Amino acid sequence: MSSQISQKHPKGLYVLFFAEMWERFSYYGMRAILLLFLLDNIKGGMGMSAAEGTAIYGLYTASVYLLTLPGGWLADNILGQKKAIWYGGIVIMLGHIILAVPAGSVIFFLGLCTVAIGTGLLKPNISSIVGELYPEGGARRDAAFSIFYMGINLGSFLGIAIVGYLGEKVSWHMGFGAAAIGMLLGLIVFRYGSATHLKGLGDVPSAKEDSQEAGAPASGNSKMLGYGLIALLVVFLIVLQSTGTINMTTAQGLAQGAGIIIVSISAAYFLFILVAGGLTRVEKYRVGVLIILFLAIALFWAGYEQAGTSLQIFAERHTQRMIGGWEVPSSWFQNFQPTFVLIFAPVLASLWISLSSKNRNPSIPVKFAMGLILLGLSFFVMVAASNIAVKGELASPFFLTFTYFLHTIGELCVSPVGLSSYTKLAPKRYVSQLMGIWFVGASLGNLIAGLFAGGFDESNIMQMPALFNQVAIITTIFGLILLVFWKPIKGWMGGIH
Ligand code: GLN
Repeated sequence: MSSQISQKHPKGLYVLFFAEMWERFSYYGMRAILLLFLLDNIKGGMGMSAAEGTAIYGLYTASVYLLTLPGGWLADNILGQKKAIWYGGIVIMLGHIILAVPAGSVIFFLGLCTVAIGTGLLKPNISSIVGELYPEGGARRDAAFSIFYMGINLGSFLGIAIVGYLGEKVSWHMGFGAAAIGMLLGLIVFRYGSATHLKGLGDVPSAKEDSQEAGAPASGNSKMLGYGLIALLVVFLIVLQSTGTINMTTAQGLAQGAGIIIVSISAAYFLFILVAGGLTRVEKYRVGVLIILFLAIALFWAGYEQAGTSLQIFAERHTQRMIGGWEVPSSWFQNFQPTFVLIFAPVLASLWISLSSKNRNPSIPVKFAMGLILLGLSFFVMVAASNIAVKGELASPFFLTFTYFLHTIGELCVSPVGLSSYTKLAPKRYVSQLMGIWFVGASLGNLIAGLFAGGFDESNIMQMPALFNQVAIITTIFGLILLVFWKPIKGWMGGIH
């Protein structure tokens, strides 16, 4: 692993590394203080209830990942990836400039939407250009993705540290604005670096290049089905709204509506390629595995992304944060995730390599099971921590630190592995669409992480252990099911590992 990483890589990789680093600075910086700002009613925040604030958090983070679908589509069909990254970066920067202005809620939400649109445009396309730098694929491409994942987490680390500090200790809007400066730096390097080091990559929309590809289903049929699905969804949401089942004029109702839309789109998409995608028997089984991994990853992120919701609330209100006379910003606890990634990613990567050399590398379903079980365990730690908090005492910072350690080892079992297994298991002509679905899994997980934390209001504090217990049990059970059935699932993968 380390020898692969130290191999010489094209300079273009570092141009992409740097741009993605600042995009993640923006995203994770925002995640660090968003909920605090929405709940705060003392320092110029919005003074919302936990239910409302966490629903908005869920909607924002879910839209960031959902907007990668149109973002990828625009690059494939109209812009090409390079322009998509460039415009995406500019839009993100503008969003942060808007957010830097303390001008009330309308301007704030305008800024938030702007950042989400820009991220949707930048994020999927920058990852695919990394792959294109290594047309030969193989170990060098894997090593490049490891370096890129470091850039992601370096950006998260800096974002949480700087934006968290500025937001909590100086002013919210100073925090929101900081990422504009970072994005500007990323844009300058991308502009000049891509001209020399990414020549000929991502200039032409890829749909123009491979529009002749065989095997895709008749586009007329898929369009009809798409319109049919949208019509059905609209009717369904109208029925839910008019019967009072959900109320989409509130943030929570809107988030529930978004959840229904995301689940329906994903279910319809999988059903569509299974039934009408012209797949062979082996490919159908592989898509079956992708469905299982989709459910597992959505569940994983639903727990993991509570770093920005329930666990953030726990850090802020129930954790001992004084060092000497100084109070550590509560958002800094979120920084254990990228820090542990930076430390342990090389360790886990070399562990997989050494196990492979002995033919004992755990299969993909086993790694997913391990990820979910570790996540489940981390929430059992939080049950213990919240049992202290309900007595009115502050919990030791050790609880959150250990929780995040388990999260990260779990993440390293599912996230990089999942990403590459999606590219390997997807029928060739559906690879980029299925990559999009991978991000939809993240979108769904984030939405649930928001909605779930709606129960963490101060008035509801006695419920905390039971709520954490629910997450712990559900994720552990799902992990155990995967562990029991790993052999047949591996069989359905048809020789891919
Ligand atoms: N931490 C990784 C990133 O930010 C993966 C996050 C995700 O896919 N939910 O890119």
